[in-house]
Amino acid sequence: MASVVDRGMLGDADGGFACKRCRDAGYRVLKVKGQPAHARRCDCQSFCSRCGGSGYVLIPSGTSAIAQSCACRHLDQRIRLFNESSLPATVARASFENFKTFDPDQIAAKSAAEEFAKRFRAERDTRGLLFYGTPGSGKTHLLGAVVKHLTLEKGIGCRYVEFMLLLSDIRAGFASNRGHLDILRPLVQVPVLVIDELGKERGTEWERSMLDELISRRYNAGLTTLFATNYFLEARKIADDPRRPVDTRSGQFQREAESMTLLQRVGDRILSRLNEMCTLCRLEARDFRALGIAGRGLGLDSADDEWDG
Ligand SMILES: [Zn+2]
Ligand SMILES: [Zn+2]
Repeated sequence: MASVVDRGMLGDADGGFACKRCRDAGYRVLKVKGQPAHARRCDCQSFCSRCGGSGYVLIPSGTSAIAQSCACRHLDQRIRLFNESSLPATVARASFENFKTFDPDQIAAKSAAEEFAKRFRAERDTRGLLFYGTPGSGKTHLLGAVVKHLTLEKGIGCRYVEFMLLLSDIRAGFASNRGHLDILRPLVQVPVLVIDELGKERGTEWERSMLDELISRRYNAGLTTLFATNYFLEARKIADDPRRPVDTRSGQFQREAESMTLLQRVGDRILSRLNEMCTLCRLEARDFRALGIAGRGLGLDSADDEWDG
């Protein structure tokens, strides 16, 4: 029965990696609170023995040789893609391995995210994912793990946006005479776009038209979009939870807002488009942030300025 032996059981505490700092990934990720996630080459990759740092290797071809890009250049390109993804520092180190699952929803959502990331091919139409559920259930962690895997492991361009912040950028653009398309264009073209906190905006006609334009253009171009929202598809009754920290000024408002459905937040036109574009994954879990446990596993730890694999 015990045919699979855990490395740890053999007392190999470093997991048998040649480089313990990056665990042989070749890169390390920096998280600085409030800034986008940032990666750099690990020191173990500072010198490439294949190309000597030139970025090219000579491949024999008949009687001469042709110059070819060294594999180490892929690493730089992938690190650049990760650094351009605008992933928030809170999920800089999110991975499928460190996503802790406590209930069946989380197990199903994790496997959907992992399967998506591992099977995704930029040249093929791929259905996206929409995670919906309670705050603190790990939706952003899973989105971060997908972005990290696609950029750093597969070299696929990704962008992460919080929808409300995107709307602020568009409004700020108007003030400096930049049209909304100037701001949306890179998001329309990136191979994988991740839109977090969908439905948190006020839901005005203008806000909906911006969302509709962005996702319709991507859909028509055959590009994949992932979403996360705190709003459920079905109506829910939010029970009063004595442990829940309630802002007395807006507690009632908060509960009413949370019991709204995604349909009420985004409207039927956008909801039916989301259904066409995505597989919907429910994630209802206890609020681990409120309970003060498992923060590390959910990528919610807030240690500053650290390098990590
Ligand atoms: Zn290393
Ligand atoms: Zn090289």
